Amino acid sequence: MNKNPGIFNDVIGPVMRGPSSSHTAASWRAAKMSMDILNEPLKNALIDFDKNGAWAPNYREQGTTLGIDGGLLGLEMADDRMKNTELVANEMGISIRYEVNSFKTNHVNTVRLALEGIHGNKIQVLVASLGGGSFEIQEIDGFKVSICGDYYELLLFNNKSDLIPELLNDLFAHNQSMSESINGDNRLINLKFSKAISNDVLDILKNSSLFINVIVANPVLPIIAGNETELPFNSVSSMLDYAVNENLSLGDIGLIYEKCQSGLPESEVVDRMKYLVEIIENSIKTGLAGTVYEDRILPQQSHLIDNAKKRNKILQNSIVNQIVANVSAIMESKSAMEVVVANPTAGSCGAVGGVMRAVADEVDATHDELISAYFATGVIGAYFAMGPGFSAEEHGCQVECGASAGMAAAGIVQLFGGTARQAVDAASMAIQNMIGLVCDPIADRVEAPCLGKNVSAAVNALSSATMSCAGYNALIPLDEVIGTVSNVSAQMPTCVKCTGKGGLAITKTACALKEKLAMNSKVSVS
Ligand code: SF4
Repeated sequence: MNKNPGIFNDVIGPVMRGPSSSHTAASWRAAKMSMDILNEPLKNALIDFDKNGAWAPNYREQGTTLGIDGGLLGLEMADDRMKNTELVANEMGISIRYEVNSFKTNHVNTVRLALEGIHGNKIQVLVASLGGGSFEIQEIDGFKVSICGDYYELLLFNNKSDLIPELLNDLFAHNQSMSESINGDNRLINLKFSKAISNDVLDILKNSSLFINVIVANPVLPIIAGNETELPFNSVSSMLDYAVNENLSLGDIGLIYEKCQSGLPESEVVDRMKYLVEIIENSIKTGLAGTVYEDRILPQQSHLIDNAKKRNKILQNSIVNQIVANVSAIMESKSAMEVVVANPTAGSCGAVGGVMRAVADEVDATHDELISAYFATGVIGAYFAMGPGFSAEEHGCQVECGASAGMAAAGIVQLFGGTARQAVDAASMAIQNMIGLVCDPIADRVEAPCLGKNVSAAVNALSSATMSCAGYNALIPLDEVIGTVSNVSAQMPTCVKCTGKGGLAITKTACALKEKLAMNSKVSVS
């Protein structure tokens, strides 16, 4: 089975509301699939976090509760009601409680969902959030599974003393992804499908006395897995050889990558990228028009650049002005719970979109050229996802703003008309400049120093693209740079990996701000 990350499943997206893709989007996805597994309307839920995990100190501030509530309540991730899920739960008469407890985990971002339905069904689901909205359901009622939201999942429960029924071979002769897990006297058989399972087949299974329970959980990722075709390259260097031999840009390569990964026709892949870019550009417009949100540290600032320019307080014809304004606008949209595209994460969603728009304006790029440049950013993100991935709780901000800087640098080279090698070298340089970047959000809000880090990533991307196209030497190949991010992460202390226990997060001012925001939320609740 092809395990390469997809550009749409793992890098550019999800389309979401909320401060953090690992907290909000991954939680929403896992909660939505958990509701399929519960298989009846929800009555109440107890959600808990391990006291030693990264989510225990900040699950509410970083939007985990919004994501879980939204998924459990059946809200879409971009639904306006995601801004106040507690109210929706109250209106629906559903109780969702959150606790910090102690339980065994194998990932810092782990959450446990204990759900009870209106007809008395009960399930317990253990989930790890892997960064950028990716997740893995690891256990269902003590049965080990690996469910990541990219397949239709068939879950068949039977007695372990029974053999795996022949019926399954008859019905699913060609299914290659059957796995089983034993818990006590029972067995869970998990089959994964790329297409919805027919009702006729489900009826046969449900009417059979061989199974205690038959459940289907639907996919929640935009691209269904299992339709992949073989990539014409399997490493950064073979990708560059292929680009040279075929005379392709990195934008062309990114499109080929996602066509192979998704199994979709080119027109559908391009259309999906256009859809995502439109949302990104709308976030810029929304942010510049002005946003407000109660639980936020900073007011709108993106308009200040234009004001300062008009008053001759800053450079007049600098692209940096536009980059800062665009990046700020996207970040402000995110912090106001407006719809954004996690790119590659919600915390780092401003850099690529902000700088790509500014450079596209500067070079008068056509829309098709901009879309092609986004494919260049996507394939860099895919190689990053094959390395450390995008979880700040595991690796710090080097995998959020660091990754976005590399992606944007490659996209800018594409907009400049540069070669695939120049684009990959620009990505290498940009990521080199951000290795070791810590994650220390002030007052647990994904606002500051996140905004400044997004702006730095965007300007760094432009300078790296400029250096690469001018012939500067990146020296260290991209794959070695990405490997170094993982190595450095292993040496970074946990306190600077999105735990709120180190860096700027523990300064006197940050602690005072956190207290003030906590007081504000108490006042608004009462
Ligand atoms: S510091 Fe970076 S990684 Fe941490 S929350 Fe902010 S943007 Fe995300």
